[in-house]
Amino acid sequence: MFRDIEERYLSIKWALKALFDQRLTGREREVNSHNWSFLCHDNGADMRLYQVNAGKFIYDMSAQELADLLEAVQAILDDHLLEGGEQNLWAMDYVVAEARRGTLEAYNNLSQQSQVYASQTTLQQLLSSPGHLNQVASARLTTFSDWKVISDTARGDLTNIITDAVARGVNPRETASVISKRLDVSMSKAKNIAQTEQVGALRQAQWNETDWAADRLGLNTGLLWLSALKPTTRTWHASRHGKVYTTEEVRDFYAENGNRYNCYCSQIPVLLNDDGSIFNDGIAEKLEKERKQWKNGS
Ligand SMILES: [Zn+2]
Repeated sequence: MFRDIEERYLSIKWALKALFDQRLTGREREVNSHNWSFLCHDNGADMRLYQVNAGKFIYDMSAQELADLLEAVQAILDDHLLEGGEQNLWAMDYVVAEARRGTLEAYNNLSQQSQVYASQTTLQQLLSSPGHLNQVASARLTTFSDWKVISDTARGDLTNIITDAVARGVNPRETASVISKRLDVSMSKAKNIAQTEQVGALRQAQWNETDWAADRLGLNTGLLWLSALKPTTRTWHASRHGKVYTTEEVRDFYAENGNRYNCYCSQIPVLLNDDGSIFNDGIAEKLEKERKQWKNGS
């Protein structure tokens, strides 16, 4: 998906360049220019200054031409970032693939642990279940709104740069260079959000099947926490490694401040005994050992 995103931003840059070559018209001035900086930020955070030469260029554009140009910029962003629209957004292919993968993993895990599950469940049945289809339908809404925010934020950012450039007489070449840098900032945010959407869909599918298997077959299921145990893993994520939680507890965890961002933990469905311990007790011991090693090593 990252490659797809990179290609989309590259296409945006090409399309904007063609647009600017055609419509950002005017002439160079033979006077001494002065330094001036674009101040860019995202919702007040992450301030950045981009130094350029001002007073070098006189734009020959009417207010209407400028307004038309800004509208064309928005159309280019939307064409690439919101392709397919709310019903058929390009990014959904990746999200749906992760939801299917999560369902497949849950299916494999539970099949290995329970004869009852294995004999009474097929993957096809799970993927065509109303629950799975509902997950995809609700991801469609949130994914579209995430990308809408990305496109709208980029539009606001570029609008400010273009109107300032015209007002201050920053030449088109320097203006385009600042815009290119701002698109890189937008792209890295887009990648973060895409990663969160994909991992979110994968997890959600695992949680869902954990609950549904319990409902459908009366199995006692829980979620076994697996942390990536990287050096950068947050301690309160690592400390959960090898422990069993209810789906509710896991959902609550991810609803809290920032836990879902940059998280490489996963949770797999496990069959439990009546006392809540893991049916296959070898797993629990092995994971507890890993958790202690991480703690000692960090
Ligand atoms: Zn984590």
